[in-house]
Amino acid sequence: MKRVYNFSAGPSMLPMEVLETARDEMLDYKGSGQSVMEMSHRSKVYDEIIKTAEADFREVAGVPDNYKVLFLQGGASTQFAMIPMNLMKNKVADYIVTGQWAKKAWQEAGNFGTANKIASSEDKTFSYIPDVSDLPISEDADYVYICQNNTIYGTRYKELPNTKGKILVSDVSSMFLSEPLDITKYGIMYGGVQKNVGPAGVTIVVIREDLITEDVLPGTPTMLKYKTHADNDSLYNTPPAYNIYVCGLVFKWLKKLGGLTEMKKINEEKAEVLYDYLDASKLFKGTVEKEYRSLMNVPFVTESDELNKKFVSEAEAEGFVNLKGHRSVGGMRASIYNAMPIEGVKKLVEFMDKFEKENG
Ligand SMILES: *Cc1c(COP(=O)(O)O)cnc(C)c1O
Repeated sequence: MKRVYNFSAGPSMLPMEVLETARDEMLDYKGSGQSVMEMSHRSKVYDEIIKTAEADFREVAGVPDNYKVLFLQGGASTQFAMIPMNLMKNKVADYIVTGQWAKKAWQEAGNFGTANKIASSEDKTFSYIPDVSDLPISEDADYVYICQNNTIYGTRYKELPNTKGKILVSDVSSMFLSEPLDITKYGIMYGGVQKNVGPAGVTIVVIREDLITEDVLPGTPTMLKYKTHADNDSLYNTPPAYNIYVCGLVFKWLKKLGGLTEMKKINEEKAEVLYDYLDASKLFKGTVEKEYRSLMNVPFVTESDELNKKFVSEAEAEGFVNLKGHRSVGGMRASIYNAMPIEGVKKLVEFMDKFEKENG
């Protein structure tokens, strides 16, 4: 069997142990005589799977009792519309645009009301996070929106914005469960799971209970109301049942590892290996301002497109795959999510060093 080191931004690596458990339970889940893919989502055996997944998620992420956890479909991108449809009571929201995903969310919100861009880092190709300590928050803003880790550009917030009392909504897709976060600071925290949590097809929304109401924009479809899913414990209709099961295995893996405090330590250690090398290298360099560097997505370049291409292709031949940068940035990007072992990062750095000696 051949396993590569997959540096994809998403879908991305899953922990080996999780894949092995899924394999072992594939044909006969715990004596039920069926796979999780085949069973009714209304069955007792599945109910136990989704309830345990939720309980483990709550424990690992530290979700307070006055928050709901929803397992939804439609990717993080559906939330770009669902958030304004459910929260825009005054039809005004403030957006901080720090990358393509925040920009898409901001543009989508404009279909439902006034979406103000109150700060942006687009002037320098999103290579930093703007000062968010004293922004012109709109008096009647229903919420303030951020994308907390910018997958494409490799930046992350060091501190949350001062929302001046407004509800904070955060897209944490590419940093989900990578470190402990204080959920009480957020009205909604959400993410597609395919970056750091599980197989594509599930979006996890953590939402404060008082934000779940019937008072949504007129015409909001049933499936796009948080209340529909909250009232039915994510079982209003058929959920992405198998994918939720795999997410549940990942939550158990995180618990066993020691939770998010431990996970963060490991992630910091991995990121340091790569950033230290980039800072010392004469051939490769990181593309973002140091203080805003992401722990998860690490973009870097050489001085020429030609060398970038050569690097990506030689790396791939050595089993380091998906290192090509996003089409809007070029160069390279190594996504080193939770499931990427530290050996993967160390071996990548060794390979980069060898490449540098040969091509520097
Ligand atoms: C990947 C990504 C998205 C889009 O996710 P989909 O599930 O494909 O819709 C949104 N936000 C961030 C931060 C992402 O990394």
